[in-house]
Amino acid sequence: MTRLRILSLFAFAAPLLAQGNADWHTAFPAFKIAANLYYVGTADLAVYLIHTPSGNILINSDFEQDLPMIRASIEKLGFRYKDTKIVLISHAHGDHDAAVGVIQRETDAKLMVMDADVPDEESQAPGRPAAHVDRILRDQDSVELGGSKLTARLTPGHTKGCTTWTMKVQEGGRTLDVVIVGSPNVNPGYVLVGNTKYPQIANDYVKTFAVLKSLPCDVFLGAHGAYFSMKAKYEKMKAGGANAFIDPEGYRAYITERESSFRNEWERQKQNPGSPARRN
Ligand SMILES: [Zn+2]
Repeated sequence: MTRLRILSLFAFAAPLLAQGNADWHTAFPAFKIAANLYYVGTADLAVYLIHTPSGNILINSDFEQDLPMIRASIEKLGFRYKDTKIVLISHAHGDHDAAVGVIQRETDAKLMVMDADVPDEESQAPGRPAAHVDRILRDQDSVELGGSKLTARLTPGHTKGCTTWTMKVQEGGRTLDVVIVGSPNVNPGYVLVGNTKYPQIANDYVKTFAVLKSLPCDVFLGAHGAYFSMKAKYEKMKAGGANAFIDPEGYRAYITERESSFRNEWERQKQNPGSPARRN
């Protein structure tokens, strides 16, 4: 096996193994974020529920082993898991989508996925229950149910079809812009320069940061709780006072920091061709 082949295998496998931590599979209390938008994920793997009179939308499934916690969270809020009508994902990595096929089977929900992530979504890799994409999405497509509307924004790089979801909610007489960041991260093992499987990866990240910077954001959310300090904000919210998830400054600071991290890594790889990313 050539050195290049070993490197490219590493580049494929590492993102799947990367970033695991104890919070991934730890239960977290379900809570209302704003209006009809709820958090039903684990202590780090975010799952969002949008409740409507016509049923519920779920964003992300986490791994199959996490699904009992998600179901329990949905029921604890007084909603029915069986009322899941639509399942969406942040991007086609197992920590966000591995259980979508199970949700489909158990609820008859329709799975809607950004076009460039469809092949990975439907792949039969080990540990991935079969899933069938019912609707293929493109940038700026909307997903509507029971008076709620989400917009899919293509934010590629982390995966080819990585999706940032936006919606508007009404709270306290205000209209709030919600942004659920798909992922701006360059994972360990990612190759930004001379990537034969994904030649445009670096330019895709550049496009992603342009999109993220263009989005109006009041409520800052993302695929991992760690992106937006979910646990700390939850504690603040429980203590009373203003809704800590309304954090436009936190969103701007996060995007700025992530973009500079990406650009530093891109420069480093330009200087060291064939040296994949080691950390985000
Ligand atoms: Zn990922």
